[in-house]
Amino acid sequence: MSSEITNAPNFIRNQINEELETGRQSKVVTRFPPEPNGFLHVGHAKSICLNFGLAEQFNGDCHLRFDDTNPAKEEQQYVDSIKEDIHWLGFQWAGEVCYASDYFEQLYAWAQHLIREGKAYVDDLSPDEIREYRGTLTEPGRPSPYRERGVEENLELLEQMRAGNVAEGKKVLRAKIDMSSPNINLRDPILYRVRHAEHHQTGNTWKIYPSYDFTHGQSDAIEGITHSICTLEFEDHRPLYEWFLSHLPVPAKPRQIEFARLKLGYTLTSKRKLKLLVDENIVDGWDDPRMPTISGLRRRGYTPAAIRKFCEMIGVTRADSGVVDIAMLTHAIRSDLEDNAPRAMCVLDPIKVVLTNVAEGHQEVYEVPGHPAREDMGLRQVPFGRELYIDREDFMEDAPKKFFRLAPGKEVRLRNSYVIRCDEVIKGSSGEISELHCSVDFDTLGKNPEGRKVKGVIHWVSAEQALPIEVRLYDNLFTVEQPDRDKDADFFDHLNPESLVIVQGMAEPSLAKAQPESRYQFERLGYFCADRHACIDGKLVFNRTVGLRDSWAKIKKKG
Ligand code: ATP
Ligand code: MG
Repeated sequence: MSSEITNAPNFIRNQINEELETGRQSKVVTRFPPEPNGFLHVGHAKSICLNFGLAEQFNGDCHLRFDDTNPAKEEQQYVDSIKEDIHWLGFQWAGEVCYASDYFEQLYAWAQHLIREGKAYVDDLSPDEIREYRGTLTEPGRPSPYRERGVEENLELLEQMRAGNVAEGKKVLRAKIDMSSPNINLRDPILYRVRHAEHHQTGNTWKIYPSYDFTHGQSDAIEGITHSICTLEFEDHRPLYEWFLSHLPVPAKPRQIEFARLKLGYTLTSKRKLKLLVDENIVDGWDDPRMPTISGLRRRGYTPAAIRKFCEMIGVTRADSGVVDIAMLTHAIRSDLEDNAPRAMCVLDPIKVVLTNVAEGHQEVYEVPGHPAREDMGLRQVPFGRELYIDREDFMEDAPKKFFRLAPGKEVRLRNSYVIRCDEVIKGSSGEISELHCSVDFDTLGKNPEGRKVKGVIHWVSAEQALPIEVRLYDNLFTVEQPDRDKDADFFDHLNPESLVIVQGMAEPSLAKAQPESRYQFERLGYFCADRHACIDGKLVFNRTVGLRDSWAKIKKKG
């Protein structure tokens, strides 16, 4: 991959550097805490690269901890895909995978501790009443009539809730903090709800489940996390995070640090909305190559290196810096594949060319570099004969002067081969072009023609040896940069009807050995990746990763 230096800001890295230098911290322990309710997306990749990246860089540890406090929405398939995606990105968590549910027993004991300290109580208000009593940003809350229950009664009621003797919604456990705090999160937040649901880790053991707020900081403390890095929407939860840590006998005092989440142009980064696209069959599953999921990017042809480079390029700031140009993401993969993808010639919309001065059965084979700058990629064999395919786009019947490809009476060079001239256009009964009859100038192999300039070069494949391939031409899933900006409008309205166009093309025979997930530059067309699901039993299906034109590199040059 090209060694561009990125000096994008990363305030957390700077901060940790300083802590280690001044001895305020001796080891860095971070964690990545996904909720197993969907597949990871490019926004999560930012968080993964940050948390695992810091651990890697400072010789610390990064834990993988499933934040599994909501039994209703969580599933094992999500747990599995999350682990696979992290490994694929090239990261390894320290020790065993952790689950917040591993700490349910300890959290329960800490809830009892708060009750004994007079800092928690069981509340019988309904969810609606709780909301109403909580007040608003401009109005203080009111205390629940159950707020002054005695310690013994609270302990007994919590036991009853745990034992499954209380119906859902009838009682909750709340912290007793401050009903008039300007921070609504401190107005007696909920610690436990009754939920008679099966959990993918703990089965039917629990009838009550802790809230995210009551779980997260204490889990961090149990695991000895030093830097609990999260996105900005948790900023207002920080006082509560700290309140729990200071009122409980926790073994460590982690610190919460917030950063701005990634927003990416033409893309959704909400698991809930991505799940809708899957559930409504707008896309072909979570790993559809148009999805911004890590598994979708992978199937599209993205490499781990490109995603990691993109995350480095965008940097880490506290302030929200708006929508990231998707050209930055495509730039990252393009520059990786430019250096590392072998070349091949493929024709996406074949039109037959008959070379009338080449004998029937004539065969030539060219030895062509696998990559123009990578000797280690060796040579590939490109056969040439009397009949070829070229792309329909590379021929024009009434060509303007500046059209430097094939036209009647005009010459063009076949890449790696001869210069040919179009002598005759053969049409079918309905007027469509069926064949081009051309002739070869045999004196042009590896040298310029005598006495004239031929500007254009086009790609081609030998018809006899060509391999039929299916090519899936992917484009952005949405036609607007912020598909979910308008809260009242439906993002479905902005779906791009041309986000997938499937064509049947012809490829040079060297592609016969293309393995699933192998990536190529199809010369003059772009970068393509053999589909990991469809390429079985010798079938060749390629996904377009990106085209060749790099608008980000251009912007950088101008800027
Ligand atoms: P959603 O609300 O869309 O389902 P989430 O943020 O709740 O997503 P989690 O599974 O809780 O999803 O996320 C795990 C970690 O990834 C969290 O620390 C979260 O802050 C971080 N994360 C999620 N989305 C982004 C994003 N767009 N940019 C950076 N970090 C993100
Ligand atoms: Mg979340």
